[in-house]
Amino acid sequence: MSDLFDAHPYQDRYPVLRGLPEHGRPKEEILAELHEMADVENASWSSGQCSGTMYCGDLEHYAFLTEAFGLFAHQNALQRDMCPSATRFEGEVIAMALDLMHADAIEGAEPAGLVTSGGTGSILQAMLSYRDHARATRGITAPNIVKPETAHPAFVKAAHLFGIELRTVPVDPVTTKVDPAVVAEAIDENTIAIIGSAGNYPYGSIDPIAELSALALERGVGLHVDGCLGGWLLPFCEELGHDVPVFDFRLPGVTSISADTHKYGYGLKGTSTVLFRDKALRNAAYFYVLDWTGGKYYSPGMEGSRSDGLLATAWASLVANGRAGYREHARGIFEVAAAMSEAVESHPELRRLGDSPFVVAFTSDVFDIYHVSDFMRTRGWRFNGLQYPNGLHLAVTRPQTQDGVVDRFRVDLADALAYAVAQEGAPESAAIYGGVPGGLTADVSEFIETVMEQLMDAQLSVPAAPDPASGASEPTPESGA
Ligand SMILES: *Cc1c(COP(=O)(O)O)cnc(C)c1O
Repeated sequence: MSDLFDAHPYQDRYPVLRGLPEHGRPKEEILAELHEMADVENASWSSGQCSGTMYCGDLEHYAFLTEAFGLFAHQNALQRDMCPSATRFEGEVIAMALDLMHADAIEGAEPAGLVTSGGTGSILQAMLSYRDHARATRGITAPNIVKPETAHPAFVKAAHLFGIELRTVPVDPVTTKVDPAVVAEAIDENTIAIIGSAGNYPYGSIDPIAELSALALERGVGLHVDGCLGGWLLPFCEELGHDVPVFDFRLPGVTSISADTHKYGYGLKGTSTVLFRDKALRNAAYFYVLDWTGGKYYSPGMEGSRSDGLLATAWASLVANGRAGYREHARGIFEVAAAMSEAVESHPELRRLGDSPFVVAFTSDVFDIYHVSDFMRTRGWRFNGLQYPNGLHLAVTRPQTQDGVVDRFRVDLADALAYAVAQEGAPESAAIYGGVPGGLTADVSEFIETVMEQLMDAQLSVPAAPDPASGASEPTPESGA
């Protein structure tokens, strides 16, 4: 673990709780401690050198959303008689997302959507809908989905959870996009949906959705467009007059789209939208139990109790930004990404992967690219590591649009290349989604399981304090240094 990152930086600073304290602590003291931790953690991205993750980074916007959250956080969106606000927030968020995805172009169907807890939630919900809808309308009992290898692991998770066969197809190594002809070969009579990304996580590339749409119509299967990452950003690329392929409901074969409000929608973590061309598909995932002792139970999606506060934050973020706000933020992001891509392309030792307007992905045919990551970490950069081939990417977000970040990138990248060509040993970095690249050796699945275990059972795995009598469940001045 220690060679990956320090999972327990607070163990020396605060007492480690190993049980529920008998007595509560003063709230001011708790808040002071939380402020200390938040300040430390905000410092890790506020310089604008961290890929993705912090899509907004505007603490004033976060404070505004937090106020919206606080007003409704205690309300349960499952109990709509008590909080009709949830019905307003969710309905309007869905309406705004459908509008952005050009649902007005839909003919002969009634568009619909759901607000979920995140991108994975949206993808799971969509795949469940395809499965149940295909079972009801096409009699499919052994369903499969076709996924480009670059599409998100949430589809793998959906296949795993819902008993759907996963057919993974390769992408073109040069364009980093899926070839519709390869997808066509993987489709059979049990295919419930094919998948395309706009854009995919590794390269930010947009799959040829128009061709996939035609294919889906021809073969009578669904087409899910994963816009979790690009859904709230790419539409503004088009509005700004850039050349970006159409990937939304204007294409008649697109049957569902996921788009995360908690990424480029600049909302708080915990919300995403999943949109359906036709209500029948969404309604296939409705769930109810009519004969339960606790009364007739129903929930529109997979989740039970949901926070009305989170619905309020998604709504507030969209309404506070508006189209013009999103467009201006997008303009800055595309400018920075273009400048960073140009910097990458100026070095013959580097090769850019894909042509995304917002993700700068690259590799090297000269040296192991993870040496570049190793060096850039020493200058405070946090890239995401890719594999097959080894690569790095920086998903450009608003913190990178601050003055000086692009210049620092140019200088540090040039220095990193000088470092990388001089290296003979193996680099320390490796490709781990959503984690700092760190040393990976021997048995990878064993290693990953150990990492998860140590994160999830964090407090149980912290070495016990030297004096259990003073270090355990009650804070003491000595242990709280
Ligand atoms: C982030 C992401 C997801 C999954 O979203 P979570 O919010 O992390 O569950 C799905 N697809 C793409 C392309 C993403 O970037």
